[in-house]
Amino acid sequence: MNFHSSKLFILNSVFCILFLFCLSSCGRPAYRSEAWWPEPPEAEVTLLEEANTVHLAVRSPYKILDLKNGTDLREGPFLASTNVTLDQGQLTLGGVGLGTDGVRVVPNVDGSLELEGTSYRGEIYLVKGPKGGLRAVEKLDVESYVLGVLGSEMPNHWEPEALKAQAVAVRTFALYLKNNGVNISSLHLAYKGTKKETPDLKRIVIQTRGVVMLYKGSLFPAYFHSTCGGHTEDANLVFGKDAIPPLRGVKCDYCKDSRYYQWRREISKQELEKNLRKAYPSLKDIWEVKPLDRGPGNHVSKVEIRYAAGTYRMNANEFRLLVGPNHLLSTAFEIADRGKTVKFYGNGWGHGVGLCQYGAGTMAKDGFTWQQILNKYYPSVEFVKIYK
Ligand SMILES: [Zn+2]
Repeated sequence: MNFHSSKLFILNSVFCILFLFCLSSCGRPAYRSEAWWPEPPEAEVTLLEEANTVHLAVRSPYKILDLKNGTDLREGPFLASTNVTLDQGQLTLGGVGLGTDGVRVVPNVDGSLELEGTSYRGEIYLVKGPKGGLRAVEKLDVESYVLGVLGSEMPNHWEPEALKAQAVAVRTFALYLKNNGVNISSLHLAYKGTKKETPDLKRIVIQTRGVVMLYKGSLFPAYFHSTCGGHTEDANLVFGKDAIPPLRGVKCDYCKDSRYYQWRREISKQELEKNLRKAYPSLKDIWEVKPLDRGPGNHVSKVEIRYAAGTYRMNANEFRLLVGPNHLLSTAFEIADRGKTVKFYGNGWGHGVGLCQYGAGTMAKDGFTWQQILNKYYPSVEFVKIYK
């Protein structure tokens, strides 16, 4: 080995040691990349279903195009709040017929559209719905949608790492729905257009741009909820879907500070009956309410209602939604019969599946990264950036 090659050998060895040092001390890379799309794909968000009238405004130059053939039906420097209705199956704008049952509203400036007083990005499609009412659908890039949802689903002053975890969960959920042909609506994720956007939240979304969670190479419904109450729940028990390891439930010691960790509600049998009869009209004179089949997170999967003329067994989540999701905060409850009333002793707020938001908030305060938070609540996932 001459002097030159021995110098090269030493240099190579130094690089090698540095590389190995970095592998052991820098940890795993934050995520890997796969090019699923060249840029953020479009999300379709149903804003209104079967409405009689909607109020539309555009705070920039705009065009209204016929959805069938792209014909320019209206244009102007701006549109003051104007009623859109359906008259004999045809759309009218400010009482003037547009000669079609579907239009595309295209603003010149992103975010200048307003529907029912709320600002939206992208474009809005107004069409005749299947039952003859008006349907409003927003089409926007998925990153803008994640930004809108983020501020609606988690307080914007929470720790950045908790917000990043939330952003990745929202993106994963939204793209899972899109890839499965499901129309995204307020039933899935809370969303108020640009209302909850802030510059800080924008930065959080940009820092995780395109990153999703994959399980065995696929997107999955990355459910989340406010407070699990000590253990997250198995998705199979709550939604009846095939359980995959990221959604089977994990122990959570991080949401004890949530004011929803433990709660009590006393509800009269008369009020329960009134609410349950919306879906079960024959239900009358409730005798007893009994929780059945608990999952690992202590959430019940069924509720048995014994009443004068028989017994109903209903899905516990359906029971909770009928009674009122903000009244009966979760399905992790014990019941005490008090004669004319039923007392619920519960834990947590929400369905209990996936990310526990209060848990994520505490983990972020304790110094955990968004990857560590998501790895805890969705075991066995990998982080992949699927567009630039
Ligand atoms: Zn929790």
